[in-house]
Amino acid sequence: KPGLYIVATPIGNLSDLSPRAADMLARADVLAVEDSRVTSKLLQHIGARRPMIPYHDHNADRVRPELIARMAGESVALVSDAGTPLISDPGYKLVRDARAAGVPVTTIPGPCAAIAALTLAGLPTDRFLFAGFLPSKAKARADAIAELAGIRATLVFYESGPRLGAALAALAEGLGPRDAAVAREISKAYEEAVTAPLPDLAARYADAPPKGEIVIVVAPPGEPEAAGEDEVDAALREALERLP
Ligand code: SAM
Repeated sequence: KPGLYIVATPIGNLSDLSPRAADMLARADVLAVEDSRVTSKLLQHIGARRPMIPYHDHNADRVRPELIARMAGESVALVSDAGTPLISDPGYKLVRDARAAGVPVTTIPGPCAAIAALTLAGLPTDRFLFAGFLPSKAKARADAIAELAGIRATLVFYESGPRLGAALAALAEGLGPRDAAVAREISKAYEEAVTAPLPDLAARYADAPPKGEIVIVVAPPGEPEAAGEDEVDAALREALERLP
């Protein structure tokens, strides 16, 4: 059926491609892809050939209207190089404009590195904030971390090997000795999740940038030291009222 289809693809292990995603990739009239070389390999894996239109940060504004126009009569599948489109990847403006044009939007959910890392880290998952990539310049990075310091939620960052040491040092500096995890190469042969307080992780990776793709997960700030006087008073009053 005509419309926009958001298709999640594997983040490393090709077996994680869902049957529904494979079916869509094989049948869509056209694929809007981040990098046609990467998506070609995936198509080869499922024995399909489909027309592809590059859609990435550098051409998105120009290509978007053409894609929206095609959705009136064709099925367009949006595919990233890996994982879920729109998550630190292009796509949200395509969805916005498709909705505005009355085009049906369907999602075919699947792998996402942020969610996969949360399942490995052993840190609270009831509230989390996905913070994407930290800025690479030191001052902007410190400012971004300071802005997140008071948030009572687990924090999730995407990072690359060469920048990991600097990012962990800045996180240790800005957030203190919170527990954290470095999840690497998820779903691939050398999948690894290392958990330790931030300063220990910063020391471990300071001079040894690891290979591969990385997610950093950081625990929420600790509970406040002691309950305030008001809360203690309220608890006492409540306890007194219950006395026989
Ligand atoms: N849209 C993707 C998703 O759903 O996860 C993320 C795209 S973003 C451009 C790429 C970043 O995701 C990498 O730099 C890394 O931080 C993270 N990532 C992707 N695959 C990963 C994997 N197999 N293991 C760990 N992190 C991964």
